[in-house]
Amino acid sequence: MPNLIQGRIIAEKIYADLRGEIAELKTRGLTPGLAVVLVGDNPASRAYVRSKDKMCRDLGLHSVKLELPADTTQAQLLARVEELNRDPAIHGILVQSPPPKQIDEAAIVRALDPAKDVDGFHPLNVAKLALGDESGFVPCTPLGCQRLLIESGTEISGAHVVVLGRSMIVGKPLALLLMRKGCGGDATVTVVHSRSQRLAEITRSADILIAAMGQPEFVRAEHVRDGAVVIDVGINRVDDPTMERGYRLVGDVAFGEVSPKTSAITPVPGGVGPMTIAMLMSNTVKACRQM
Ligand code: NDP
Repeated sequence: MPNLIQGRIIAEKIYADLRGEIAELKTRGLTPGLAVVLVGDNPASRAYVRSKDKMCRDLGLHSVKLELPADTTQAQLLARVEELNRDPAIHGILVQSPPPKQIDEAAIVRALDPAKDVDGFHPLNVAKLALGDESGFVPCTPLGCQRLLIESGTEISGAHVVVLGRSMIVGKPLALLLMRKGCGGDATVTVVHSRSQRLAEITRSADILIAAMGQPEFVRAEHVRDGAVVIDVGINRVDDPTMERGYRLVGDVAFGEVSPKTSAITPVPGGVGPMTIAMLMSNTVKACRQM
């Protein structure tokens, strides 16, 4: 049996640490506050926003859930973001993606106060990540992947990490994070994408393989060398008439055939997913501390 890297259990440990930090902030009269803005009624987005709100409340954070109609204009959304930027009780702001098509998402991200950008997508925070400036916010999913590696005792320093995918949400910030100097970094990172040649040859040379492609079960046994550590970021719905809901969730890795070759691997669900929300809470507490 491979060693399973259990995101759910590691996330619980992070919440226990955060509870201590939050209690300490409260003794100083500070309660970290997170505002999550949802435009429209996308059911998946609604579920994400609900779980973020619930987690905030569980931890004793101040939580604001702003639900705006699907026909909200760019100007109306910008006005709400400006209000939250000015609100001293709010330390973190997140605009749930994807917004409806009339919204220019990049312009909304640029309008956020970078000190409250707990998603880490503002250009200033992207620059801070590239510069190795620890005061910036790193996107939650890459931060969660790094934390899984650290908590599972995986040696990152000097390891060859291959990241499959180069999105601004996962692949690119993850590569920057793992090649950063110091603790949790110092890896030799290769990023592959849809135009990469000799993909399997490259992935087979990875000590740590991280799949973030959005391609169900793309990574097969032939892509992985014996003893590698595999982190599966993918969350994909595939039709499955045997399930009551008509689908099942799979990662970007064919778990059944890949896991026996690995020294450690994350499951889907229960791997990276729980870490993303834990890192959002952690970034919100950091934003409050830095305010
Ligand atoms: P994107 O679609 O934005 O990016 C996918 C990346 O994978 C692109 O860089 C693309 O290359 C590359 N890619 C796609 N197909 C191939 C292929 N056949 N060969 C090589 N490279 C390929 O996805 P995201 O980064 O947003 O998300 C990736 C996955 O992670 C999804 O399954 C998503 O649901 C999941 N996810 C999970 C989260 C969690 O909390 N667990 C959070 C965020 C995402 P190119 O750039 O050339 O197009």
